[in-house]
Amino acid sequence: MKLHEYQSKRIFARYGIPIPEGEVATTPEEARALAAQLGRPVVIKSQVLVGGRGKAGGIRLAHTPEEAEAVAREILGMEIKGLPVRKVLVDEAAEIRAELYLGAVLDRQHRRIAVMASSEGGVDIEEVAARSPEKIVTVRPHPLMGLQDYHARSLAFGIGLPKEHVRAFTQIARGLYQAFVENDATLAEINPLVITGQERLLAVDGKIVLDDSGLARHPDLAALRDPDEETPAEREAREHGLSYIQLDGEIGCMVNGAGLAMATMDVVKLYGGSPANFLDIGGGARAEQVAVALRLILGDPRVKAVLVNIFGGITRCDEVAQGLLQAMEAVRPQVPFVARLVGTNEEEGRRMLQEAAFPIFTATSLVDAAQKAVAAAKGEPIP
Ligand code: GDP
Ligand code: MN
Repeated sequence: MKLHEYQSKRIFARYGIPIPEGEVATTPEEARALAAQLGRPVVIKSQVLVGGRGKAGGIRLAHTPEEAEAVAREILGMEIKGLPVRKVLVDEAAEIRAELYLGAVLDRQHRRIAVMASSEGGVDIEEVAARSPEKIVTVRPHPLMGLQDYHARSLAFGIGLPKEHVRAFTQIARGLYQAFVENDATLAEINPLVITGQERLLAVDGKIVLDDSGLARHPDLAALRDPDEETPAEREAREHGLSYIQLDGEIGCMVNGAGLAMATMDVVKLYGGSPANFLDIGGGARAEQVAVALRLILGDPRVKAVLVNIFGGITRCDEVAQGLLQAMEAVRPQVPFVARLVGTNEEEGRRMLQEAAFPIFTATSLVDAAQKAVAAAKGEPIP
């Protein structure tokens, strides 16, 4: 789950990281009042959960409260990369002397948190990594020790940070690491971390991505979820305990188990099709869940065929078949279905589907099912 810039920076501030003075506004009038209160030039920043807001025109300076109101009015009417801007952050404008990068990210390969710094802040760090990888310095502290001062110093020296800033930088790096660990983040990033005209370090931009699996431990953070982050379909899926990720193919996939769902997508691709989604309906797979899953899949206009791949272990195949038929009764799909049911009571499940009044083709192997689904999606005869 992604946090907004203002939410991320508020968390950073709790860990001793200096951030600009500022507040969130939802109307141009509020932005004007906040600018007047600050009594300084401000920067108006769109709060949307995508990067590159600056380039998209979603970050602008304003010198007076009147200008702040006008700029906020424009930005609040914008859409950035498809996301509506509903809030702006009104921050005191920083006088920027240099832009650095400091970020912590979960490094699964090394099983550690990688902390990276660069003298090339402000721009996409991916760009720096591609163009001049030597400009990124990384440390991976041992998880039992955490980030120590010497780690931070080696980052500071590695990016050629002037000596007078090393102490402040060390505090910031420690705060960032601690914020990452205590909030169960997978990413915590300051880009840019600026050296100001007053020779201070300041976190001008902030980004935190939280580990969804850790959210149960942080109800206060879970409550910060922005519904605009997800598509309506993804939200409905989450609310029903389904893992659903929309893709851009034409074969809807309904599978129980994440591993089986991945394998199903692979095999669909192998036979020349392309999956419209990743969907794990979970182990229980009650009729109601199957119905929700079906609605989600069929709500995607790109779907030309549906592949149901169920391994009946705890759930019996006849139950799944019954759930599927009930759901089809309610949803009335217009596209062909291919179902592969294996496991407990599979013959019974298959028989129920074959006798149903809907166009359901059954298959016994995954290869067979994938080939049939690919043909069905292309409108070709089913092999
Ligand atoms: P992003 O484009 O979404 O990453 O948003 P950022 O907050 O990182 O802002 C992009 C760029 O706008 C920064 O790298 C700065 O160059 C500039 N910027 C942001 N805030 C300020 C500010 O307070 N003063 C000045 N002068 N520039 C700013
Ligand atoms: Mn940024």
